[in-house]
Amino acid sequence: MSTLEIRGLRAGVAGKEILTGIDLTIRSGEVHAVMGPNGAGKSTLAGVVMGKPGYEVLDGSVTLDGTDVLAMAPWERATAGLHLVMQYPTEVPGVMLHDVLAEALTTRGRPTAELDATLRAEAAKIGFDERFLDRALNVDLSGGEKKRNETLQLAVLAPKIVILDELDSGLDIDALRDCARRVEEMSNQVGDDEPLGVLAITHYSRLLQELQPDHVHILANGRIVESGGPELATQLENDGYSAFAGEADSDDADASASALSDLFSI
Ligand code: ADP
Ligand code: MG
Repeated sequence: MSTLEIRGLRAGVAGKEILTGIDLTIRSGEVHAVMGPNGAGKSTLAGVVMGKPGYEVLDGSVTLDGTDVLAMAPWERATAGLHLVMQYPTEVPGVMLHDVLAEALTTRGRPTAELDATLRAEAAKIGFDERFLDRALNVDLSGGEKKRNETLQLAVLAPKIVILDELDSGLDIDALRDCARRVEEMSNQVGDDEPLGVLAITHYSRLLQELQPDHVHILANGRIVESGGPELATQLENDGYSAFAGEADSDDADASASALSDLFSI
């Protein structure tokens, strides 16, 4: 069993403090949803935990099974078992999906002989067209196909803990269902492999209909203002963030209007 522990994390960017004290513990098999309005600091949290350049850690700690994550280079964090599914997957012309995964598995001391078969099996599970397996990474893929591709990589690499930064952005309903179900399945798996621990960042409860959270946290103004069970996501859907943050969406009508406009801006 693995544990990602975030304690008193304060971090900033360009001299401005964004995260003002985050405490979160994610264990294998647990699904934690972090929900919050635009600009709350959700992507900053993902970036700081993964070591994305440009962020400054001001205080606090992040450990994976007791090991200091903040002292590691980004690639070391990935090798240690942390994985990020990015909000906007990057296109990498000339770099083949198969080669990236083979390299990543080798770095992790894992075999690659079955990689082709695994890729095909995983592609079938999430409805990712096999033709895309021979493409350069994310090149010429639609938004939904990119997220399916990211989910496929996640399934092949089988990290300990994954951070999903708005897996739902840019996805149609079918792709969202396929990707969310596969992640849910990984978090429930029994047997030799330990189940995946999930930190799912989102601002819609839509994702959480397929990927069922054990814990829901509301992030507003750089800190977690409320934690609870799945019912918190439903409450948020009804009341908007204003009930928790005292700002952002100022009333219910505004909340639905801005949710709707966000849908078209992602
Ligand atoms: P979320 O993902 O919740 O929408 P972000 O973590 O992306 O929010 O951003 C949190 C805050 O940090 C926002 O006010 C945003 O403008 C600011 N911010 C993020 N990245 C940068 C940056 N590179 N330079 C300056 N401000 C930034
Ligand atoms: Mg974001």
